[in-house]
Amino acid sequence: MKSTINRREWLRNTALITGGLTFLPAMINKVSANHFRHNYQPFFDDKDYVFENEDAFPKLKARLFANENPFGPSDAAKKAITGAMNESFRYPFIELMALEKRIVEFEGLNQKQILTGAGSSPLLRAASVYYSKPGSNIVTADPTYDDLPSHCEGFHAQLIKVPLTAAYEYDLDAMEKAINANTSLVYICNPNNPTGTIVDSSKLRAFCDRVSKKVPVFVDEAYIDYLPDPAASSMVDCVKRGNNVIVARTFSKLYGFAGLRFGYVLAQPDVITQLDMYTPAGQSISALSIAAANAAFKEQPYLQDALSKTITSKEYLYKVLKEEGYEYIPSHTNFVMFPIKMEGQKFTDEMMKRGVGVRFWKFNNKEWCRISIGRMEEMQAFAEAFREIS
Ligand code: PLP
Repeated sequence: MKSTINRREWLRNTALITGGLTFLPAMINKVSANHFRHNYQPFFDDKDYVFENEDAFPKLKARLFANENPFGPSDAAKKAITGAMNESFRYPFIELMALEKRIVEFEGLNQKQILTGAGSSPLLRAASVYYSKPGSNIVTADPTYDDLPSHCEGFHAQLIKVPLTAAYEYDLDAMEKAINANTSLVYICNPNNPTGTIVDSSKLRAFCDRVSKKVPVFVDEAYIDYLPDPAASSMVDCVKRGNNVIVARTFSKLYGFAGLRFGYVLAQPDVITQLDMYTPAGQSISALSIAAANAAFKEQPYLQDALSKTITSKEYLYKVLKEEGYEYIPSHTNFVMFPIKMEGQKFTDEMMKRGVGVRFWKFNNKEWCRISIGRMEEMQAFAEAFREIS
């Protein structure tokens, strides 16, 4: 029976992966741990005012440092979690396969072309392990989301970082020129984190179709759902045409699943098979998250509502920045980057003291703040704190 075979395969894969992970180089854990600290520790280091007492952290007035969607998850997703609770003693392999089938059918792909994970991070990590061959290099942009590239560097691949254009967009021509015989992967984040900019879809599509004949192209579409027509902006049609393009998606952003964890990559079957070797994939997704993702997938009224609330908060932020005499990079996402007039660490410290968490960057010889879009009351808390120190 099909389900018996699938169950057996599921258990075999679990055993293989669990066993296999024991023998993976200690370096993998080291790289992951370092990355986690690199990303999150700056908020917590030496900040007694955050950890003064156990529940101080949740008392932040505005948590605007992790590009979460505070309007999610949807009611349908929450209801599905409650409904799935009673059966949660079972391995959720049938439910996961059903969800994967829905996703690939929606995208016009087949079931060998999807790999799911507890968020997209484990899948980005799998790609970084697989593509970091000795002597290889990864071509990417600067600045961009550095999870995959920094892990590649951790595995001793060289990074070729191509600066963004003057409009803070990916410079595809320069990236294509930077590719050489040792390039094992091109990583593109579209829309880009941390700038919130996009690449022209037809130009990117032509780039992917052309370049992927020589080198695989990884397109991280974590924020694609914030665009007016995600399907038209996605590079999934390059996958459909049989090209060596890997598209990563996550429910952590517009779907509001950052704590629930669900993400996937879409690629050619042989690439999926390879990446699958380096991640616990579906085995790490809980039955509750799978039920929630099934309820939320393409749930248009909820997604539209979250999008319009995000846009309202973002426009309020733009107004505040203009009033205070600040410029910003117009954003296609749920975060905004703007140049600040003091040293980045000092700025974030001062904001944190006022109960507002944001992040800073340094590029183009400027200090920048990246602020995630929150609920209106969080944006107002930001405005109040910002006016005090700007
Ligand atoms: N890709 C991009 C561009 C991101 O900004 C993030 C998270 O912020 C991720 C991937 C990973 O998200 P997750 O593991 O929650 O899916």
